Amino acid sequence: MYDSNNVFAKIIRGEIPSKKVYEDDKVLAFYDVAPAAPTHVLVIPKGEYGDYIDFISKASPQDVLHYFTTIKEIARILGFSGNEGFRICSNIGAKAGQTVFHFHTHILGGAQFGEVV
Ligand code: AMP
Repeated sequence: MYDSNNVFAKIIRGEIPSKKVYEDDKVLAFYDVAPAAPTHVLVIPKGEYGDYIDFISKASPQDVLHYFTTIKEIARILGFSGNEGFRICSNIGAKAGQTVFHFHTHILGGAQFGEVV
């Protein structure tokens, strides 16, 4: 069950501040408050989806395509085009480390990364 009082829902509603990187009518991207890399941005759909499975199961194909295409555009805005590598990831469920239950993709960059875990 989606909890509309989660922190990202509050960011979408403008109830708590965020440092925005990108926004359109369907997608919002903002800097992570506790960065795990020199650049750490979160990309969220504005719709109410608790995690990736919820999003991919319920969102329209157009919205799914728009979301993932927009991640590419946000990465370009952040300077991650060409040969500058970056990482995208999404935690699904508390066991995987998900702490905010509104679907989001992490964009991490600006460092040399090792193995995923
Ligand atoms: P996850 O652990 O995958 O659910 O990721 C949640 C992320 O949200 C963490 O990296 C947190 O640092 C980040 N976070 C939590 N609250 C805020 C906030 N108010 N603004 C920006 N990022 C946040």
